[in-house]
Amino acid sequence: MPRAGIIGAGTMGHGIAQCFALAGWKTGLFDLDKKTLGSAAERIRRNLETPLELGLISAQEAEACPKNIELCSSLEELLPGAEIIIETASEDLELKRCIFAELENKADQKTILATNTSALSIGLIAQNLDRPGRVVGAHFWNPPHVLPCVEVIRGDRTDEAVFEKTYEIMESIGKKPIRVKKDVPGFLGNRMQHALQREAMSLVDQGVADPGDVDRVVRYGFGLRLALMGPLERADLGGLDVTLSVQSYLLEHLYNGTEPSAGLRELVEAGSLGAKTGRGFYDWPEEKLRRRTKARDRLLLELIRMVREQE
Ligand code: NAD
Repeated sequence: MPRAGIIGAGTMGHGIAQCFALAGWKTGLFDLDKKTLGSAAERIRRNLETPLELGLISAQEAEACPKNIELCSSLEELLPGAEIIIETASEDLELKRCIFAELENKADQKTILATNTSALSIGLIAQNLDRPGRVVGAHFWNPPHVLPCVEVIRGDRTDEAVFEKTYEIMESIGKKPIRVKKDVPGFLGNRMQHALQREAMSLVDQGVADPGDVDRVVRYGFGLRLALMGPLERADLGGLDVTLSVQSYLLEHLYNGTEPSAGLRELVEAGSLGAKTGRGFYDWPEEKLRRRTKARDRLLLELIRMVREQE
């Protein structure tokens, strides 16, 4: 049975552990915070409910998954025999550098050392290591136990064999890996996502529309299409001549500021951090958050099944 180790059992780590365990890997999970580690099994059990209800996994698989996960109280317990370690600790360059320095000393020579960073440079995380070739990006999307995409990022010194092996591992656990050939900030997905959020927030800042209407134009318009057709395929179908003429007129009118939105900054300064504080662009009473999260996972899983059937 192959072995994987996951560092950090927070939002991303527990879900990534679930993906490996469901695919039959013996999976170690370690978090410095005992409470977070202690609640991981229950969070994974809850995550498994919806795919089980939808018939996407069998009762045996749902039962076997948590048994493949070992909660580890130290890095030493996590590392032995692991083919890959995925670091999902908080998004802080110095913290990640410390973790990778320790991994370089303690992990088997052959173990691939991957980071789930959202936007930090893989090259910078690996900069001070003796063997930076072992370090690669493996950027899962949230919720990692639901969304198939994993961006596999080649740092400037990542070994080709490590890059390709990571791609293969992601495929083998049922993910849809994407090769990111250059270590650019934000990789592929977050660059596109933040370009859209920047424009969306700017439209609200300018008073062009309310948050609800900005979101609705995506949810009931082009957002529905995006799961079936990426922006480049869409451009082909719409006609590249049309795209060229729209871009020639429109691009100079789009917001291209390099500072975060003023409205976003105001909300954060007022302590409105979104769902986790109960208020952001919207109000988030607990019951609404629970309902929306459950519905999101169920609909996403159904949509993913349909998209995959279409391929
Ligand atoms: P989180 O805060 O929910 O979890 C991070 C966990 O790491 C915490 O439980 C913390 O106790 C633990 N931790 C910190 N230092 C540690 C150490 N030295 N050893 C072991 N555990 C340690 O964060 P998250 O949202 O799961 O994000 C984790 C990483 O994944 C970040 O790099 C983030 O940018 C990236 N990421 C997040 C998302 C997302 O939507 N949340 C999506 C993709 C990638």
